[in-house]
Amino acid sequence: MEIPRIPRCEYPITIREIGPFDAECASVGMVVRAPTGKILLLDRLKGIYGGKDSSNCEFDPGLGYACPAGHIEKDEHPFYAGLRELEEETGINKALKSASIVLELWASNPCRKAKNHHWYIMLIEIDRELGAIMEPTKHGSLTWADPDVALGFDLEPAWRSILWHMKQKGIL
Ligand SMILES: [Zn+2]
Repeated sequence: MEIPRIPRCEYPITIREIGPFDAECASVGMVVRAPTGKILLLDRLKGIYGGKDSSNCEFDPGLGYACPAGHIEKDEHPFYAGLRELEEETGINKALKSASIVLELWASNPCRKAKNHHWYIMLIEIDRELGAIMEPTKHGSLTWADPDVALGFDLEPAWRSILWHMKQKGIL
């Protein structure tokens, strides 16, 4: 699958690292990094409004390339929610060398039930480039890319902000 190199989405997402993290929803996102430095990205097909036909992020800001991520369930620890979501979305449950929460953010990205999110961002180092599409109705492809290359992808708006922020902080 050809990856679009020109971002079509400039949907504005505000993020901040300073609390209060008074968001309506809590999510965890996993930046999975191989020894090559490449990170794992999934192409989201459904977006927030579920429309495959909604190729325009102004209409559906949940579309585009994104790191594995998901909502944290009630009483679930963000770290274990991250490992659970990673396995659900990519099948990855082995070859992990390290995993830790490296950032906590407030972001103005919407989902089906909320206008903003309290994000926990995990950095997961993995032995080799693994993974498969486990939810084919949700994700079109799984790609490994250098972070600088990934920033040129058609990223999902929240991940465009998060990855830029991590790059600026020197985490990526
Ligand atoms: Zn949400």
